Amino acid sequence: MISLVDNIEEFLSKYDEFKKRETDSGFFIYGEINREVNINNKGNLVLIFDLEIYINKDYPNTIPSVREVDEKIPKTFHKLNDGSFCLAAPYLLFSSIKKNPNFIVFFENFILPYLYSYQYNKKYGKMPFGELRHGMQGIIDFYKELFNIQSECLVVKLLMQAKNVYRGHHLCACGSKKRLRKCHGSIILSIKNSIPRQHLLSEIMQIYKYINKEDFAKGYCL
Ligand SMILES: [Zn+2]
Ligand SMILES: [Zn+2]
Repeated sequence: MISLVDNIEEFLSKYDEFKKRETDSGFFIYGEINREVNINNKGNLVLIFDLEIYINKDYPNTIPSVREVDEKIPKTFHKLNDGSFCLAAPYLLFSSIKKNPNFIVFFENFILPYLYSYQYNKKYGKMPFGELRHGMQGIIDFYKELFNIQSECLVVKLLMQAKNVYRGHHLCACGSKKRLRKCHGSIILSIKNSIPRQHLLSEIMQIYKYINKEDFAKGYCL
């Protein structure tokens, strides 16, 4: 695997509008992108954004965070509480960088499409590639679809199973009465292998807090 420093150099030679600044803990990549981009044949759009991307030195164990310097994109458009971009559900981000940690790929698969979506939505009033609900509800909806289940507390139970040691012969937490390996086993393994444990734990806690804790405690997992 190519080193992060070399990977960033490779990125900077392809996208030469950006510069880098190194700190003890990571790299800031900053500059104004001004490019005409066409993604999935949705049409050409000019993207002009002043960006600052932070890549921690432990990348790919953490997701790069991206913000715009001049805040053209309103906070209501897929931004996290700290103002950075909400690029996609964490599982998608982690599984993608696990598969291919090259930052150029991350930039082209997540950061450019984010900017393109914003610009497209501004011009046409709709999202070009579909949209998740934002925030915690968006993440829960994402998992419901991934697991193909309806219940929010089952999302928590399945994620808890992903946090624990994998035992394929145990019963699946979804309540199907099937063994894990014959039910949600492969997706649970994929979550386990993609999302760093610390992140998974905090995601479980956030979902747990978000859904009704009392219902969860009473076992209303239907
Ligand atoms: Zn969002
Ligand atoms: Zn299951």
